[in-house]
Amino acid sequence: MLLERVRAQLRAKSSASGEREIALRPSLYHDERRTIVLNFRQLADSLSREPEHVARFIFKESGKPGSLEGDRLILNGKIGDPEFAKLLQLYFKEFVKCPVCGGIDTQIQREKKFRYLVCEACGARTPVRKV
Ligand SMILES: [Zn+2]
Repeated sequence: MLLERVRAQLRAKSSASGEREIALRPSLYHDERRTIVLNFRQLADSLSREPEHVARFIFKESGKPGSLEGDRLILNGKIGDPEFAKLLQLYFKEFVKCPVCGGIDTQIQREKKFRYLVCEACGARTPVRKV
């Protein structure tokens, strides 16, 4: 009976919080001096964000300059797979995931010089920094 109750609570918990994650699988290619993210546009699509916005975040946080070329992101410098995956997770946490309900149906709204993460599920408006 106790187990039943725990199960019921777990079900309630997972359905109420709307906690969701996105599977992000960056495909990296390294040459002598650069790191090339082959599926960068696809990654940005999964995050429902502009590739330019995600790219600016990556340049800033990694401290490595680079450019967008078609579907690819070119970084001048070496970034390992785990490091790049971590940058994407940081972006997801800051610019996609609603800090109030954990939902991912969000968008970034501009208002003068301010930026807000607006959640379609719970309506929360969270200020985010400009990148
Ligand atoms: Zn929310």
